[in-house]
Amino acid sequence: MIEKLKQNEELWDLFTKKEEYNLTFSDQDDRFPYYLSCQRDVFDPKVSRFLVENGLRPEYPEGKKFAVCLTHDIDFTYPAKMYTIVETAKAVAKGNLVDAVKMPFSSISKRYNPYWNFREIMDLEAKYNSKSSFYFLALNPGEKDFNYKIENLEAELKFISDHGWEVGLHGGYESYNSLEDLKEKKQRLERVLGKQVIGYRNHYLRFKVPDTWELLSKAGFKYDATFGYSDCAGFRNGLCHPFRPYNLNTEKQIDILELPLIIMDRTLLKDYMRLDFKKAWELIKRLIDKVEQCNGVVTTLWHNNMLAEEQYRKLYENLLEYVSSKNAWISSGEEVFNWWTANVEKKY
Ligand SMILES: [Zn+2]
Repeated sequence: MIEKLKQNEELWDLFTKKEEYNLTFSDQDDRFPYYLSCQRDVFDPKVSRFLVENGLRPEYPEGKKFAVCLTHDIDFTYPAKMYTIVETAKAVAKGNLVDAVKMPFSSISKRYNPYWNFREIMDLEAKYNSKSSFYFLALNPGEKDFNYKIENLEAELKFISDHGWEVGLHGGYESYNSLEDLKEKKQRLERVLGKQVIGYRNHYLRFKVPDTWELLSKAGFKYDATFGYSDCAGFRNGLCHPFRPYNLNTEKQIDILELPLIIMDRTLLKDYMRLDFKKAWELIKRLIDKVEQCNGVVTTLWHNNMLAEEQYRKLYENLLEYVSSKNAWISSGEEVFNWWTANVEKKY
């Protein structure tokens, strides 16, 4: 399969992301954004279509036609102080006394904390016979975006993992560029969780092609789910199938599986693409339909704090409803990794 792809120069360059080697420009977080890419048809999984035309036929559990990999990055476990004050003021203004009384306690009481919603998310997903991955930060106090100590979440991590959902690492802002940091954070999360961690996503989707894949592989991760654009949904290297990245410097495949990220919550509405709700939903459906046509895997990212916002929550519920009506196999990164390596990869 890879040999066939090599013979098609245009698709090979897209698959390997040749344009991301030796960059002149990057964005404010040192990322390669879609607006700097030469590729202008990011909603078309071209490379995957080529592979399917050349015989790739992935199968999924119970004969399902395509898969959805649900993931969540946990940047916050309680709202910042400002958030609490603003929401209290809003509740008071609306005359909602019950909410007004509850809100000031939201950052200290788990019961009234809108970001302490892991079990709620699990309950929602279980309704659709699905599971997901939760990627937790393991930052040290003083590091950028330190919001919680992973050691304080031991019971919750074990609850998630014991019920069959996955706990993976959400690498820090600098992790994507440091083997030492990746190893330290992986170990720290594993100590708290009491088991091996195989899945990864970097904070801010920071990622350097091909170096981050090499570092993640060396640090002992089995799969990564970072590879998507922050500023646009779609297929960053034309693929909607899990793949082993190829390093153009060493001319070798890298020993890690990439589950390309197709749809992130914040990309759609106010932060990047600035779509309204209706357009965002249209785009989500369109991307899912494309992946279905290629028997691929749609990897999605909904942050737990965004799920506390009504619009984002509604989009997520619509998405779950839509893919389950299409009879997709909906699961976590870990299960997609296990299935793909055991059942699909060895055939091609
Ligand atoms: Zn993050």
